[in-house]
Amino acid sequence: MKIAFVGSEVYPFAKTGGLGDVLGSLPKAIHKLDNDVKVFMPKYSCVDHDRYDLSYCWSIGEIPVRVYGKTHKINVYTTYLPNSTVDVYFIDYPPFYGRPLLYTNDADEDERFILFQKAVIESMQKMKWIPDVIHCNDWQTGLIPLYIKDNYSWDRMLDKTATLLSIHNIGYQGRFPKETLYKAEVRPQLFYENGPIEVWGSFCFLKTGIMYSDVISTVSETYAKEVTTSAYGEGLEGVLRHRINDFYGILNGVDYLVWNPETDKHIPFHYSKDDLNGKHKNKEYLLKSVHLPIKKDVPLIGIISRLVAQKGFDTFQDAVGELMKRNAQWVILGSGEERFEDLFRSLSYAFPDKVYTYLGFNNELSHLIEAGADMFLMPSRYEPCGLNQIYSLRYGTVPVVRRTGGLADTVLDWHEYLHRGFDTGTGFSFNHQNSEAIVSTLDRAIGTYNYKDAWNKIIQNGMSKEYSWEISAEKYMELYKKAVKNRKG
Ligand code: ADP
Repeated sequence: MKIAFVGSEVYPFAKTGGLGDVLGSLPKAIHKLDNDVKVFMPKYSCVDHDRYDLSYCWSIGEIPVRVYGKTHKINVYTTYLPNSTVDVYFIDYPPFYGRPLLYTNDADEDERFILFQKAVIESMQKMKWIPDVIHCNDWQTGLIPLYIKDNYSWDRMLDKTATLLSIHNIGYQGRFPKETLYKAEVRPQLFYENGPIEVWGSFCFLKTGIMYSDVISTVSETYAKEVTTSAYGEGLEGVLRHRINDFYGILNGVDYLVWNPETDKHIPFHYSKDDLNGKHKNKEYLLKSVHLPIKKDVPLIGIISRLVAQKGFDTFQDAVGELMKRNAQWVILGSGEERFEDLFRSLSYAFPDKVYTYLGFNNELSHLIEAGADMFLMPSRYEPCGLNQIYSLRYGTVPVVRRTGGLADTVLDWHEYLHRGFDTGTGFSFNHQNSEAIVSTLDRAIGTYNYKDAWNKIIQNGMSKEYSWEISAEKYMELYKKAVKNRKG
């Protein structure tokens, strides 16, 4: 099949979170299954032209793309996705994508991604490469399914092209004022109360994608169930229930070429489940490099996260007084809301022997924390899939998580399984979103850390788990076939 992946971030070119990881790895797995795959993303200023050897697509040339009645001349660059022969195409338009951040609160944020989506479709037309399926990702690509069926329906070549929309986080929907309709040049008749593109008086790109794509997916089975309820659906639960027969949950995989302690190029000491010596050395190296004292038998807890309410840091804040009384050290890497940045900054001032905080994005440090920490905390309110707990399993870093979304699907609570008579647990988890639950679960983890046999068993169980993309890629192939069938229907 011919599959086009379209998204707003692709690792290693540009990444702010899990979406980047997925678009940097799933296309390779789909390509390995003998498909013709191309990936499309914006050419942000952070994309390192020389390092990744981008070349100008002369065969495509300059394309005039219309947004809001204005014509923007876009160009296209290309290279391979590293460690593969998958083509990646970059939509170049410096006035829109040459900004310091991938996502902005600028007044033309809607136009930036309207242009991107139209430019992707028009680049395909210009290349005469018409995919069987366009795999769209998140709100930044939510208009493509509508465009294919409506604005570009004059192009008979696109008649059979099906669309699949993957929702990586329903908390981000791309809701814009009604005027955006005119920028997007979408038929105004589609905009009415509870209409296919409207949510609470706004034009919602994600809802548009859900309504018009042939199949919809999200990134874990549990999250797929959760988002059909009002507690998790962020107002789109009704639309998803409406499309329930075409809605699926597929767990994200991991690119073990990037996240593997046996080969990781960002960590000083390699290790495997048969020899954890390197892990202990990484812990020492990490503690030294962040100027925390090396203490025997004191667990090191890692956090790598966007610092936002979704990740449960309100509850963490409620629990912090108790948590700081525990005999543990902390390394935190993240950036986000000011109140959480202030919290972690002040913790590292108040507890200089216990807490180190790095505010910002640092890929190298994220690998070192995975390799050096003993535990990894994710107290998320909701977590569509979550990747760090899966990386943690492979790095022998025991996850402590709230049981929601992909966290529920990947972390088996050690004590719960012991009660059932199995020593197959891989971490520690809790249900309730409150400070008592975080504290008591971390207490269970810290208590178990002192029983070396039990702790080693948990590490071994986690490191033996396999979340490679092969299994999930097969499931996506089934969805692509279903999307094609639905499109015909
Ligand atoms: P989300 O997509 O909601 O942010 P995921 O767990 O799915 O959460 O993916 C987060 C990805 O982003 C992981 O690869 C994680 O290591 C990375 N990440 C998050 N914050 C940082 C940071 N401050 N520095 C480096 N990597 C980060």
